Amino acid sequence: MPNAMPNSSALRDALQQSPNNLSLLLLYGRACLEELHLDEAREVFDRALEIDPDQADAMLGIAKVHFLEGDPSGAAVRAERVVSQEPHNAQAHLLLSRVFLSEGDSGRAIEHFDRAAQIDGTMSDPALERELGRTAREARKAAPAPAPEPSSSDSNPIGNLDQEDFFDDPFDDPPYEWRPETFYAPGDPERGGVTFADVGGMEELKEEIRLKITYPLQFPDLYKAYGRKTGGGILIYGPPGCGKTLMLRAVAGEVPCNYLAVGLHEIFDPYFGSTERNLHQIFETARANAPCVLVFDDLDSLAQDRRQIRESQMRNLVNQFLHEMDGIRSENQRILVIGATNQPWALDPAFRRPGRFDQAIFVPPPDAPARAQIIELLAKDKPIADFDNAGLIEATVGFSGADLKWVFDRAAELALSAAIHTGQPVPITLDLLLAVAKAHAPTTQSWFEGMNTHAKQQEGTDSMFNDMRKFLSTPSNSKKER
Ligand code: ATP
Repeated sequence: MPNAMPNSSALRDALQQSPNNLSLLLLYGRACLEELHLDEAREVFDRALEIDPDQADAMLGIAKVHFLEGDPSGAAVRAERVVSQEPHNAQAHLLLSRVFLSEGDSGRAIEHFDRAAQIDGTMSDPALERELGRTAREARKAAPAPAPEPSSSDSNPIGNLDQEDFFDDPFDDPPYEWRPETFYAPGDPERGGVTFADVGGMEELKEEIRLKITYPLQFPDLYKAYGRKTGGGILIYGPPGCGKTLMLRAVAGEVPCNYLAVGLHEIFDPYFGSTERNLHQIFETARANAPCVLVFDDLDSLAQDRRQIRESQMRNLVNQFLHEMDGIRSENQRILVIGATNQPWALDPAFRRPGRFDQAIFVPPPDAPARAQIIELLAKDKPIADFDNAGLIEATVGFSGADLKWVFDRAAELALSAAIHTGQPVPITLDLLLAVAKAHAPTTQSWFEGMNTHAKQQEGTDSMFNDMRKFLSTPSNSKKER
Protein backbone atom coordinates (compact mmCIF):
# COMPACT_ATOMS: atom_id res chain seq x y z
CA MET A 1 0.00 0.00 0.00
CA PRO A 2 1.49 3.34 -0.96
CA ASN A 3 2.03 5.70 1.94
CA ALA A 4 3.83 8.71 0.54
CA MET A 5 3.26 11.53 -1.91
CA PRO A 6 4.58 10.95 -5.41
CA ASN A 7 8.08 12.41 -5.50
CA SER A 8 8.69 15.83 -6.94
CA SER A 9 10.75 14.71 -9.95
CA ALA A 10 7.95 12.44 -11.22
CA LEU A 11 5.51 15.34 -10.88
CA ARG A 12 7.92 17.79 -12.55
CA ASP A 13 8.05 15.42 -15.54
CA ALA A 14 4.26 15.21 -15.63
CA LEU A 15 4.05 19.02 -15.50
CA GLN A 16 6.24 19.33 -18.56
CA GLN A 17 3.49 17.55 -20.49
CA SER A 18 0.74 19.64 -18.96
CA PRO A 19 2.28 22.89 -17.59
CA ASN A 20 -1.02 24.64 -16.79
CA ASN A 21 -2.66 21.74 -15.01
CA LEU A 22 -3.59 23.42 -11.74
CA SER A 23 -4.06 20.18 -9.82
CA LEU A 24 -0.63 18.95 -10.91
CA LEU A 25 0.94 22.28 -9.97
CA LEU A 26 -0.56 22.02 -6.48
CA LEU A 27 0.61 18.44 -6.14
CA TYR A 28 4.10 19.38 -7.25
CA GLY A 29 4.12 22.34 -4.84
CA ARG A 30 3.13 20.07 -1.98
CA ALA A 31 5.81 17.54 -2.91
CA CYS A 32 8.39 20.37 -2.94
CA LEU A 33 7.17 21.45 0.49
CA GLU A 34 7.52 17.90 1.81
CA GLU A 35 11.05 17.70 0.42
CA LEU A 36 11.74 21.19 1.80
CA HIS A 37 12.57 22.70 -1.59
CA LEU A 38 11.05 25.94 -0.39
CA ASP A 39 12.10 28.26 -3.25
CA GLU A 40 10.74 25.85 -5.84
CA ALA A 41 7.53 25.41 -3.80
CA ARG A 42 7.00 29.20 -3.62
CA GLU A 43 7.54 29.54 -7.38
CA VAL A 44 5.07 26.75 -8.14
CA PHE A 45 2.36 28.12 -5.84
CA ASP A 46 2.90 31.58 -7.37
CA ARG A 47 2.34 30.07 -10.83
CA ALA A 48 -0.87 28.43 -9.56
CA LEU A 49 -2.06 31.81 -8.25
CA GLU A 50 -1.36 33.39 -11.63
CA ILE A 51 -3.75 30.86 -13.15
CA ASP A 52 -6.33 31.26 -10.38
CA PRO A 53 -5.74 34.18 -7.98
CA ASP A 54 -8.36 32.80 -5.53
CA GLN A 55 -6.78 29.34 -5.32
CA ALA A 56 -6.86 28.74 -1.56
CA ASP A 57 -4.50 25.74 -1.59
CA ALA A 58 -1.86 27.75 -3.43
CA MET A 59 -2.22 30.64 -0.98
CA LEU A 60 -1.95 28.18 1.88
CA GLY A 61 1.11 26.62 0.25
CA ILE A 62 2.83 30.01 0.24
CA ALA A 63 1.79 30.52 3.87
CA LYS A 64 3.48 27.20 4.72
CA VAL A 65 6.64 28.27 2.90
CA HIS A 66 6.73 31.42 5.06
CA PHE A 67 6.24 29.38 8.20
CA LEU A 68 9.00 26.92 7.28
CA GLU A 69 11.31 29.85 6.50
CA GLY A 70 10.81 31.12 10.06
CA ASP A 71 8.39 33.93 9.19
CA PRO A 72 5.26 33.16 11.27
CA SER A 73 3.66 36.57 10.72
CA GLY A 74 3.97 36.20 6.92
CA ALA A 75 2.36 32.77 7.30
CA ALA A 76 -0.42 34.10 9.56
CA VAL A 77 -1.41 36.91 7.16
CA ARG A 78 -1.84 34.45 4.29
CA ALA A 79 -3.50 31.69 6.32
CA GLU A 80 -5.98 34.23 7.71
CA ARG A 81 -6.73 35.36 4.16
CA VAL A 82 -7.55 31.73 3.33
CA VAL A 83 -9.79 31.44 6.39
CA SER A 84 -11.67 34.64 5.51
CA GLN A 85 -12.22 33.20 2.02
CA GLU A 86 -12.96 29.65 3.22
CA PRO A 87 -13.92 29.61 6.91
CA HIS A 88 -14.03 25.80 6.83
CA ASN A 89 -10.53 25.22 5.54
CA ALA A 90 -9.19 22.82 8.16
CA GLN A 91 -5.61 22.99 6.86
CA ALA A 92 -5.56 26.79 7.24
CA HIS A 93 -6.77 26.49 10.85
CA LEU A 94 -4.09 23.88 11.51
CA LEU A 95 -1.39 26.17 10.17
CA LEU A 96 -2.74 29.06 12.28
CA SER A 97 -2.60 26.75 15.29
CA ARG A 98 1.09 26.10 14.60
CA VAL A 99 1.76 29.79 14.03
CA PHE A 100 0.17 30.82 17.36
CA LEU A 101 1.93 28.00 19.18
CA SER A 102 5.28 29.19 17.82
CA GLU A 103 4.45 32.66 19.12
CA GLY A 104 3.61 31.30 22.60
CA ASP A 105 -0.14 32.00 22.31
CA SER A 106 -1.39 28.51 23.24
CA GLY A 107 -4.97 29.73 23.82
CA ARG A 108 -5.41 30.76 20.20
CA ALA A 109 -3.38 27.75 19.04
CA ILE A 110 -5.90 25.44 20.73
CA GLU A 111 -8.82 27.46 19.37
CA HIS A 112 -7.66 26.92 15.77
CA PHE A 113 -6.68 23.30 16.42
CA ASP A 114 -10.19 22.56 17.75
CA ARG A 115 -11.72 24.28 14.77
CA ALA A 116 -9.65 22.15 12.37
CA ALA A 117 -10.55 18.93 14.20
CA GLN A 118 -14.27 19.79 14.19
CA ILE A 119 -14.26 20.65 10.50
CA ASP A 120 -12.31 17.61 9.39
CA GLY A 121 -13.42 14.46 11.17
CA THR A 122 -10.36 12.59 9.85
CA MET A 123 -7.78 15.13 10.97
CA SER A 124 -5.00 14.04 13.25
CA ASP A 125 -1.59 15.62 13.78
CA PRO A 126 0.31 13.65 16.44
CA ALA A 127 3.23 16.09 16.66
CA LEU A 128 1.02 19.14 17.14
CA GLU A 129 -1.29 17.19 19.46
CA ARG A 130 1.70 16.36 21.68
CA GLU A 131 2.84 19.97 21.81
CA LEU A 132 -0.64 21.29 22.54
CA GLY A 133 -1.36 18.53 25.08
CA ARG A 134 -4.69 17.93 23.34
CA THR A 135 -5.90 15.21 20.99
CA ALA A 136 -8.08 15.71 17.92
CA ARG A 137 -10.67 13.47 19.57
CA GLU A 138 -10.85 15.73 22.65
CA ALA A 139 -11.05 18.73 20.34
CA ARG A 140 -14.00 17.27 18.48
CA LYS A 141 -15.81 16.64 21.74
CA ALA A 142 -14.93 20.02 23.27
CA ALA A 143 -17.15 22.50 21.52
CA PRO A 144 -20.24 22.65 19.37
CA ALA A 145 -19.67 21.76 15.75
CA PRO A 146 -19.06 24.57 13.28
CA ALA A 147 -21.97 25.88 11.30
CA PRO A 148 -22.60 23.98 8.09
CA GLU A 149 -21.01 25.21 4.90
CA PRO A 150 -22.81 25.23 1.60
CA SER A 151 -20.19 23.00 -0.01
CA SER A 152 -20.92 19.27 0.09
CA SER A 153 -17.25 18.48 0.34
CA ASP A 154 -16.87 19.38 4.02
CA SER A 155 -17.89 17.18 6.89
CA ASN A 156 -20.20 18.06 9.74
CA PRO A 157 -20.15 16.15 12.97
CA ILE A 158 -23.12 14.03 13.87
CA GLY A 159 -24.55 16.66 16.25
CA ASN A 160 -26.09 18.75 13.48
CA LEU A 161 -28.65 16.39 12.03
CA ASP A 162 -31.58 18.79 12.06
CA GLN A 163 -29.95 21.34 9.81
CA GLU A 164 -31.47 21.93 6.41
CA ASP A 165 -28.34 21.41 4.36
CA PHE A 166 -29.61 19.74 1.28
CA PHE A 167 -31.87 20.99 -1.40
CA ASP A 168 -34.67 18.92 -2.84
CA ASP A 169 -35.43 17.24 0.45
CA PRO A 170 -39.02 15.96 0.51
CA PHE A 171 -38.74 15.08 4.21
CA ASP A 172 -37.58 18.45 5.48
CA ASP A 173 -40.87 19.60 6.83
CA PRO A 174 -41.01 19.08 9.78
CA PRO A 175 -37.27 18.52 10.44
CA TYR A 176 -36.71 14.92 11.40
CA GLU A 177 -33.95 13.71 13.62
CA TRP A 178 -32.52 10.22 13.29
CA ARG A 179 -29.55 8.84 15.13
CA PRO A 180 -27.78 5.74 13.87
CA GLU A 181 -26.93 2.90 16.22
CA THR A 182 -23.62 2.18 14.50
CA PHE A 183 -21.73 5.33 13.66
CA TYR A 184 -17.99 5.55 14.13
CA ALA A 185 -15.83 8.61 13.67
CA PRO A 186 -12.12 8.12 12.94
CA GLY A 187 -10.19 7.06 16.01
CA ASP A 188 -13.35 5.94 17.80
CA PRO A 189 -12.28 3.22 20.25
CA GLU A 190 -15.58 1.40 19.68
CA ARG A 191 -14.77 0.81 16.01
CA GLY A 192 -13.54 -2.63 17.06
CA GLY A 193 -10.35 -4.42 16.29
CA VAL A 194 -11.37 -6.18 13.07
CA THR A 195 -9.36 -5.08 10.02
CA PHE A 196 -8.59 -6.43 6.55
CA ALA A 197 -5.86 -8.58 8.12
CA ASP A 198 -8.60 -10.62 9.83
CA VAL A 199 -10.27 -11.44 6.53
CA GLY A 200 -8.73 -14.24 4.49
CA GLY A 201 -8.56 -13.66 0.72
CA MET A 202 -10.76 -11.05 -1.04
CA GLU A 203 -7.71 -9.12 -2.17
CA GLU A 204 -9.52 -7.54 -5.14
CA LEU A 205 -12.29 -6.30 -2.89
CA LYS A 206 -9.88 -4.93 -0.29
CA GLU A 207 -8.01 -2.98 -2.98
CA GLU A 208 -11.24 -1.69 -4.52
CA ILE A 209 -12.33 -0.30 -1.15
CA ARG A 210 -8.94 1.35 -0.68
CA LEU A 211 -9.13 2.84 -4.17
CA LYS A 212 -12.56 4.29 -3.59
CA ILE A 213 -12.17 5.73 -0.10
CA THR A 214 -8.78 5.27 1.58
CA TYR A 215 -6.40 6.47 -1.14
CA PRO A 216 -8.59 9.46 -2.11
CA LEU A 217 -8.34 10.66 1.48
CA GLN A 218 -4.60 10.04 1.55
CA PHE A 219 -3.90 11.59 -1.85
CA PRO A 220 -6.72 14.06 -2.57
CA ASP A 221 -4.70 16.15 -5.01
CA LEU A 222 -3.55 13.12 -6.96
CA TYR A 223 -7.17 12.07 -7.38
CA LYS A 224 -8.03 15.61 -8.48
CA ALA A 225 -5.20 15.59 -11.00
CA TYR A 226 -6.50 12.36 -12.50
CA GLY A 227 -10.11 13.55 -12.36
CA ARG A 228 -11.13 10.67 -10.08
CA LYS A 229 -13.77 11.07 -7.42
CA THR A 230 -14.05 9.62 -3.93
CA GLY A 231 -16.73 7.08 -3.10
CA GLY A 232 -19.28 5.30 -5.26
CA GLY A 233 -21.08 2.02 -4.84
CA ILE A 234 -19.80 -1.53 -4.43
CA LEU A 235 -22.00 -4.60 -4.35
CA ILE A 236 -20.53 -7.66 -2.67
CA TYR A 237 -22.26 -10.93 -3.47
CA GLY A 238 -21.60 -14.61 -3.05
CA PRO A 239 -22.55 -17.74 -1.14
CA PRO A 240 -23.34 -17.53 2.57
CA GLY A 241 -20.58 -17.81 5.14
CA CYS A 242 -17.79 -16.56 2.88
CA GLY A 243 -17.02 -13.48 4.92
CA LYS A 244 -19.15 -10.69 3.45
CA THR A 245 -20.40 -9.56 6.85
CA LEU A 246 -16.94 -9.98 8.33
CA MET A 247 -15.61 -7.81 5.50
CA LEU A 248 -18.15 -5.07 6.23
CA ARG A 249 -17.02 -5.06 9.87
CA ALA A 250 -13.38 -4.98 8.80
CA VAL A 251 -14.08 -1.88 6.70
CA ALA A 252 -14.89 -0.06 9.97
CA GLY A 253 -11.49 -0.93 11.38
CA GLU A 254 -9.70 -0.10 8.15
CA VAL A 255 -10.96 3.13 6.58
CA PRO A 256 -9.76 6.51 7.87
CA CYS A 257 -13.16 8.19 7.77
CA ASN A 258 -16.64 8.04 9.25
CA TYR A 259 -18.45 4.70 9.12
CA LEU A 260 -22.17 4.11 9.26
CA ALA A 261 -23.67 0.60 9.31
CA VAL A 262 -27.40 0.27 9.02
CA GLY A 263 -29.49 -2.45 10.58
CA LEU A 264 -32.70 -3.40 8.79
CA HIS A 265 -34.64 -2.77 12.00
CA GLU A 266 -33.52 0.85 11.79
CA ILE A 267 -35.21 1.25 8.44
CA PHE A 268 -38.44 -0.73 8.44
CA ASP A 269 -41.37 0.97 10.11
CA PRO A 270 -45.05 -0.03 10.07
CA TYR A 271 -46.22 3.56 9.51
CA PHE A 272 -46.84 4.53 5.92
CA GLY A 273 -44.01 6.63 4.51
CA SER A 274 -41.78 6.24 7.56
CA THR A 275 -39.57 3.55 6.04
CA GLU A 276 -38.63 5.78 3.09
CA ARG A 277 -38.08 8.66 5.46
CA ASN A 278 -35.76 6.53 7.60
CA LEU A 279 -33.76 5.52 4.55
CA HIS A 280 -33.55 9.13 3.42
CA GLN A 281 -32.34 10.17 6.84
CA ILE A 282 -29.63 7.50 6.76
CA PHE A 283 -28.28 8.90 3.50
CA GLU A 284 -28.57 12.46 4.82
CA THR A 285 -26.55 11.46 7.86
CA ALA A 286 -23.86 9.92 5.65
CA ARG A 287 -23.79 13.05 3.45
CA ALA A 288 -23.57 15.35 6.46
CA ASN A 289 -20.63 13.32 7.70
CA ALA A 290 -18.77 12.81 4.42
CA PRO A 291 -16.29 11.36 3.84
CA CYS A 292 -18.21 8.35 5.03
CA VAL A 293 -18.66 4.67 4.27
CA LEU A 294 -22.30 3.62 4.41
CA VAL A 295 -22.83 -0.11 4.76
CA PHE A 296 -25.92 -2.24 4.10
CA ASP A 297 -25.77 -5.95 4.92
CA ASP A 298 -28.58 -8.16 3.55
CA LEU A 299 -29.13 -5.68 0.76
CA ASP A 300 -31.68 -7.94 -0.94
CA SER A 301 -34.23 -7.11 1.79
CA LEU A 302 -34.12 -3.43 0.81
CA ALA A 303 -33.30 -3.41 -2.86
CA GLN A 304 -35.72 -6.03 -4.18
CA ASP A 305 -36.61 -6.37 -7.81
CA ARG A 306 -39.73 -4.20 -8.21
CA ARG A 307 -41.21 -6.67 -10.70
CA GLN A 308 -41.51 -9.18 -7.86
CA ILE A 309 -43.03 -6.78 -5.30
CA ARG A 310 -46.74 -6.66 -4.62
CA GLU A 311 -47.04 -4.11 -1.78
CA SER A 312 -46.80 -0.46 -2.79
CA GLN A 313 -44.97 0.39 0.44
CA MET A 314 -42.07 -1.89 -0.47
CA ARG A 315 -41.99 -0.54 -4.01
CA ASN A 316 -41.82 3.00 -2.64
CA LEU A 317 -38.85 1.99 -0.52
CA VAL A 318 -36.98 0.61 -3.53
CA ASN A 319 -37.75 3.78 -5.51
CA GLN A 320 -36.48 5.88 -2.63
CA PHE A 321 -33.31 3.80 -2.39
CA LEU A 322 -32.67 4.21 -6.12
CA HIS A 323 -33.22 7.95 -5.82
CA GLU A 324 -30.83 8.27 -2.85
CA MET A 325 -28.13 6.40 -4.74
CA ASP A 326 -28.45 8.38 -7.92
CA GLY A 327 -24.97 9.11 -9.20
CA ILE A 328 -26.03 12.47 -10.54
CA ARG A 329 -26.71 13.73 -7.01
CA SER A 330 -23.65 15.80 -6.39
CA GLU A 331 -24.18 15.54 -2.63
CA ASN A 332 -23.24 11.88 -2.79
CA GLN A 333 -19.63 12.73 -3.41
CA ARG A 334 -17.24 11.33 -0.83
CA ILE A 335 -19.70 8.62 0.23
CA LEU A 336 -18.90 5.00 -0.44
CA VAL A 337 -21.98 2.77 -0.25
CA ILE A 338 -21.23 -0.94 0.19
CA GLY A 339 -24.06 -3.45 0.00
CA ALA A 340 -23.75 -7.19 0.62
CA THR A 341 -26.10 -9.95 -0.42
CA ASN A 342 -26.20 -13.68 -0.97
CA GLN A 343 -29.20 -13.31 -3.31
CA PRO A 344 -27.93 -11.05 -6.06
CA TRP A 345 -30.59 -12.34 -8.46
CA ALA A 346 -33.26 -10.81 -6.21
CA LEU A 347 -32.00 -7.23 -6.61
CA ASP A 348 -33.70 -4.71 -8.85
CA PRO A 349 -31.55 -4.41 -12.00
CA ALA A 350 -31.73 -0.60 -11.73
CA PHE A 351 -29.30 -0.79 -8.80
CA ARG A 352 -26.62 -1.96 -11.22
CA ARG A 353 -26.76 1.18 -13.38
CA PRO A 354 -23.77 3.50 -13.46
CA GLY A 355 -23.61 5.75 -10.44
CA ARG A 356 -25.30 3.23 -8.16
CA PHE A 357 -23.80 -0.21 -7.40
CA ASP A 358 -21.90 -0.17 -10.65
CA GLN A 359 -19.11 -2.33 -9.27
CA ALA A 360 -20.14 -5.88 -8.33
CA ILE A 361 -17.56 -8.10 -6.72
CA PHE A 362 -18.08 -11.83 -6.37
CA VAL A 363 -16.92 -13.27 -3.06
CA PRO A 364 -16.49 -16.98 -3.80
CA PRO A 365 -15.62 -19.70 -1.32
CA PRO A 366 -12.00 -19.08 -0.37
CA ASP A 367 -9.34 -20.46 -2.75
CA ALA A 368 -6.33 -22.38 -1.44
CA PRO A 369 -4.23 -19.33 -0.38
CA ALA A 370 -7.29 -17.75 1.27
CA ARG A 371 -8.09 -21.03 3.06
CA ALA A 372 -4.50 -21.14 4.28
CA GLN A 373 -4.95 -17.63 5.67
CA ILE A 374 -8.29 -18.44 7.32
CA ILE A 375 -6.91 -21.68 8.79
CA GLU A 376 -4.02 -19.71 10.25
CA LEU A 377 -6.45 -17.16 11.73
CA LEU A 378 -8.66 -19.91 13.17
CA ALA A 379 -5.70 -21.82 14.62
CA LYS A 380 -4.42 -18.74 16.43
CA ASP A 381 -4.68 -18.93 20.23
CA LYS A 382 -6.04 -22.51 20.20
CA PRO A 383 -4.37 -25.59 21.73
CA ILE A 384 -3.37 -27.01 18.38
CA ALA A 385 -0.62 -29.56 17.83
CA ASP A 386 1.99 -28.39 15.34
CA PHE A 387 0.86 -29.45 11.90
CA ASP A 388 1.44 -28.89 8.24
CA ASN A 389 -1.85 -27.41 7.05
CA ALA A 390 -1.44 -28.47 3.39
CA GLY A 391 -3.58 -31.57 3.95
CA LEU A 392 -6.38 -29.55 5.53
CA ILE A 393 -6.30 -26.98 2.72
CA GLU A 394 -6.64 -29.80 0.22
CA ALA A 395 -9.48 -31.46 2.16
CA THR A 396 -11.58 -28.30 2.35
CA VAL A 397 -12.05 -27.32 -1.31
CA GLY A 398 -15.42 -25.55 -1.63
CA PHE A 399 -15.67 -24.84 2.10
CA SER A 400 -16.79 -21.35 3.09
CA GLY A 401 -14.98 -19.48 5.87
CA ALA A 402 -17.93 -20.32 8.10
CA ASP A 403 -17.52 -24.03 7.21
CA LEU A 404 -13.85 -23.82 8.15
CA LYS A 405 -14.76 -22.14 11.40
CA TRP A 406 -17.26 -24.91 12.09
CA VAL A 407 -14.53 -27.54 11.52
CA PHE A 408 -12.27 -25.86 14.05
CA ASP A 409 -15.08 -25.32 16.56
CA ARG A 410 -16.22 -28.95 16.27
CA ALA A 411 -12.68 -30.29 16.55
CA ALA A 412 -12.16 -28.08 19.62
CA GLU A 413 -15.33 -29.50 21.19
CA LEU A 414 -14.18 -33.07 20.58
CA ALA A 415 -10.70 -32.40 21.97
CA LEU A 416 -12.24 -30.67 24.98
CA SER A 417 -14.55 -33.59 25.63
CA ALA A 418 -11.58 -35.99 25.44
CA ALA A 419 -9.62 -33.74 27.83
CA ILE A 420 -12.49 -33.75 30.33
CA HIS A 421 -12.85 -37.54 30.20
CA THR A 422 -9.16 -38.39 30.37
CA GLY A 423 -8.13 -35.63 32.76
CA GLN A 424 -5.24 -34.88 30.34
CA PRO A 425 -4.81 -31.90 28.02
CA VAL A 426 -5.71 -33.11 24.50
CA PRO A 427 -4.50 -30.93 21.63
CA ILE A 428 -6.46 -30.43 18.42
CA THR A 429 -4.58 -32.47 15.84
CA LEU A 430 -4.51 -32.50 12.05
CA ASP A 431 -6.10 -35.97 12.04
CA LEU A 432 -8.99 -34.71 14.13
CA LEU A 433 -9.49 -31.66 11.90
CA LEU A 434 -9.35 -33.85 8.78
CA ALA A 435 -11.87 -36.31 10.21
CA VAL A 436 -14.31 -33.49 11.02
CA ALA A 437 -13.78 -31.86 7.60
CA LYS A 438 -14.37 -35.12 5.75
CA ALA A 439 -17.70 -35.62 7.49
CA HIS A 440 -18.86 -32.14 6.50
CA ALA A 441 -20.38 -31.12 3.15
CA PRO A 442 -19.67 -27.51 2.19
CA THR A 443 -22.74 -25.34 2.77
CA THR A 444 -22.03 -23.30 -0.35
CA GLN A 445 -23.22 -26.10 -2.62
CA SER A 446 -26.94 -25.28 -2.60
CA TRP A 447 -26.17 -21.63 -3.25
CA PHE A 448 -24.36 -22.49 -6.48
CA GLU A 449 -27.30 -24.65 -7.55
CA GLY A 450 -29.70 -21.71 -6.98
CA MET A 451 -27.38 -19.29 -8.73
CA ASN A 452 -27.11 -21.65 -11.70
CA THR A 453 -30.89 -21.75 -12.09
CA HIS A 454 -31.08 -17.96 -12.09
CA ALA A 455 -28.14 -17.72 -14.46
CA LYS A 456 -29.96 -19.92 -16.97
CA GLN A 457 -33.05 -17.68 -16.75
CA GLN A 458 -31.05 -14.49 -17.28
CA GLU A 459 -28.58 -15.68 -19.89
CA GLY A 460 -25.91 -13.07 -20.57
CA THR A 461 -27.76 -10.16 -18.97
CA ASP A 462 -25.50 -9.55 -16.05
CA SER A 463 -21.77 -9.82 -15.49
CA MET A 464 -22.53 -11.17 -12.02
CA PHE A 465 -23.45 -14.49 -13.54
CA ASN A 466 -20.39 -14.49 -15.76
CA ASP A 467 -18.11 -14.13 -12.75
CA MET A 468 -19.80 -17.10 -11.14
CA ARG A 469 -19.59 -19.18 -14.33
CA LYS A 470 -15.91 -18.34 -14.63
CA PHE A 471 -15.40 -19.47 -11.05
CA LEU A 472 -17.21 -22.76 -11.64
CA SER A 473 -15.36 -23.47 -14.87
CA THR A 474 -12.01 -23.35 -13.08
CA PRO A 475 -11.20 -27.03 -12.40
CA SER A 476 -9.68 -26.44 -8.95
CA ASN A 477 -12.91 -24.77 -7.81
CA SER A 478 -15.34 -27.44 -8.93
CA LYS A 479 -13.30 -30.36 -7.74
CA LYS A 480 -15.52 -31.49 -4.89
CA GLU A 481 -19.19 -32.29 -4.51
CA ARG A 482 -20.52 -29.37 -6.51
P1 ATP B 1 -24.18 -14.48 4.81
O1 ATP B 1 -24.28 -14.27 3.33
O2 ATP B 1 -24.91 -15.68 5.29
O3 ATP B 1 -24.49 -13.25 5.60
P2 ATP B 1 -21.36 -13.95 5.00
O4 ATP B 1 -20.72 -14.11 3.67
O5 ATP B 1 -21.71 -12.59 5.43
O6 ATP B 1 -22.63 -14.88 5.10
P3 ATP B 1 -19.86 -14.11 7.44
O7 ATP B 1 -21.06 -13.96 8.34
O8 ATP B 1 -19.02 -12.92 7.29
O9 ATP B 1 -20.35 -14.63 6.02
O10 ATP B 1 -18.96 -15.33 7.90
C1 ATP B 1 -19.26 -16.13 9.03
C2 ATP B 1 -18.01 -16.43 9.81
O11 ATP B 1 -17.14 -17.27 9.05
C3 ATP B 1 -17.19 -15.17 10.11
O12 ATP B 1 -17.61 -14.53 11.29
C4 ATP B 1 -15.78 -15.75 10.24
O13 ATP B 1 -15.60 -16.33 11.52
C5 ATP B 1 -15.78 -16.88 9.23
N1 ATP B 1 -15.27 -16.43 7.92
C6 ATP B 1 -15.94 -16.46 6.76
N2 ATP B 1 -15.18 -16.01 5.75
C7 ATP B 1 -14.01 -15.66 6.27
C8 ATP B 1 -12.81 -15.11 5.74
N3 ATP B 1 -12.69 -14.83 4.43
N4 ATP B 1 -11.78 -14.86 6.58
C9 ATP B 1 -11.88 -15.15 7.89
N5 ATP B 1 -12.99 -15.68 8.47
C10 ATP B 1 -14.04 -15.94 7.67
